[in-house]
Amino acid sequence: MRFWIGIDDTDSVKGMCTTYIALLLIDAIKDFGELIGFPRLIRLNPTIPYKTRGNGAVSFLVDLEDLDKAMEIADEIIKRHAELSDEKTNPGVVFVREDKAPLLRSFAERAIKDVLKIEDAIEIIERHSIPHLSYKNGRGLIGALASVGANLEDFVYELIAYRFPEKFGKPRVVDENSFYELDFKYYPTIFDTVDWCNNVVMAVPGTPCPVLFGIRGENVEILKESIKMLKTEKWDKKAIFITNHATDMHIVEGEEIKEFRSYRVVGRVMKKPYDIIGGHVFFEIGTKNGNLTCAAFEPTKQFRNVVRDLIEGDLIEVYGSVKSSTLNLEKIRVISLAKKFAEMNPSCPICGRRMESAGKGQGFRCKKCKTKAFEKIRVEMRRKLETGFYEVPPCARRHLTKPLIRMKVEKRHVFR
Ligand SMILES: [Zn+2]
Repeated sequence: MRFWIGIDDTDSVKGMCTTYIALLLIDAIKDFGELIGFPRLIRLNPTIPYKTRGNGAVSFLVDLEDLDKAMEIADEIIKRHAELSDEKTNPGVVFVREDKAPLLRSFAERAIKDVLKIEDAIEIIERHSIPHLSYKNGRGLIGALASVGANLEDFVYELIAYRFPEKFGKPRVVDENSFYELDFKYYPTIFDTVDWCNNVVMAVPGTPCPVLFGIRGENVEILKESIKMLKTEKWDKKAIFITNHATDMHIVEGEEIKEFRSYRVVGRVMKKPYDIIGGHVFFEIGTKNGNLTCAAFEPTKQFRNVVRDLIEGDLIEVYGSVKSSTLNLEKIRVISLAKKFAEMNPSCPICGRRMESAGKGQGFRCKKCKTKAFEKIRVEMRRKLETGFYEVPPCARRHLTKPLIRMKVEKRHVFR
């Protein structure tokens, strides 16, 4: 019988990765449970306060001869490999009959966009009699169910290579240039591998987890071909996942703003943006549901210069997650630009040169032509900003955020 197996919350900041545990399980049951299609890596609400790391859960479809045996093996693998000693690691595994998976769709949508409680997961499990394994407080059941139920209208693939276990926690040996070369050759079919401007290889994690690198793209064959260019330490195993990375699946539209959710909202800039210590840039927009503070934090790098160019009256659409009553910007669409004026000294009607001050309260003059004027003039300034979409650079991108290069919209200002 065909079952979806969903797993979540097995990692911690100190190590491990739920995708790795899923692969160990796929491998351990392969003699009596055939994997069908690609496993799925599903990112959940990125603002959840108690998430372990990237808030990603994994599910895969298997044709199982023996469910009890598969559950026993899963239990052994979790006990041996999950970071159970970390108080924030609370694994959950579910075994959902294939025909029941669509019943979890709205639950999955809430896990990606909203904030769920463990009781919500227990309720679903009881209502549909879903076989499951739960450890400690069992919070992982939420992601385990959601990874099974997520309906991927949009998706990308991620090819992940894993290190040999004896290398876990040690520095990764990679030739960073080979990742830039991969990007140069395969962008945009493959994207967010590196950040050229900020000199960061995003494909290689900095955490002590088993992942050597992860390459994102639209096409399985091209992904497989591309990694032949990479120069790295030898990898132990690799796998391709279908994911909701780069899909904006977390974004909610046109609702009242609540904490720990992500939105797309139209508003008018109320005042010129301002910097605070640490290089974070803030401004407020007026929306149909009241005022909203928006922020481009220091890690968003050159995107802050886009934000600094906004002025009062600009009409924009913001995308991002709300925490501490502040929307953390992922991208913006400039819908229309307000006119910007500057006060300047008048120009001389004869020679055309800018007049100089004739002294305090004395107006302006041109010495050469002996002309005079009394008031400054208001001149419309050219705006550096254009209408269209602007986004944070790749190094500041969230897993779920859809890069402009994947969006079929006009006037994209892409940071590569
Ligand atoms: Zn003159």
